[in-house]
Amino acid sequence: MGDSHITLVPERFAIAPAEQAFMETRMVGWMQKNGWIEKEKSDCVLSSEGGWRFTPSGSLHMTGEPEKRLLTYGFRVEKHAGKGVFTNLEGGLESACCPACGKDVERYFYDMVGEWYEADGFPPVQCPLCGVASDIRAYRLDPLWGFSQIGFEFWNTGPLRPEFVEEFTAMLGEPVRVVWAHL
Ligand SMILES: [Zn+2]
Repeated sequence: MGDSHITLVPERFAIAPAEQAFMETRMVGWMQKNGWIEKEKSDCVLSSEGGWRFTPSGSLHMTGEPEKRLLTYGFRVEKHAGKGVFTNLEGGLESACCPACGKDVERYFYDMVGEWYEADGFPPVQCPLCGVASDIRAYRLDPLWGFSQIGFEFWNTGPLRPEFVEEFTAMLGEPVRVVWAHL
């Protein structure tokens, strides 16, 4: 079975590097204080920077399930200097519906995201079918993607308890999207 991660992605597009670093320190500190992740970084995520391995009590709290005995099983924070797009990776989108006309523009959506990514700022993105430009976050995506400069990754946990996501959101102080990705 392949690896997967859930990323909690703020709704906010732009988060400056200093704020990203502050958010990472605060959220890692909160997870450690609660004993949900280990104190030291280790090779427990698929990233050269490493991450913080989940503890047995962390697993129970976050998912309601016992700890998984996997090598890849930890928390890391993905930070982007430029714009960030958090996709579901393998398999791609099933559908991407325009918030104005409701039509599925999935086959155009990768190009639309590419143009948005290259553009200055965070401009609205025009629907190729009805011509109305909408905020890229307003397109109804299945599976869900996130658009922010920071994302909090949970590797191989399986589904997070909604109560935990609420707690995380409250600590972060802003709404997040729950983005699943399969490698
Ligand atoms: Zn449309």
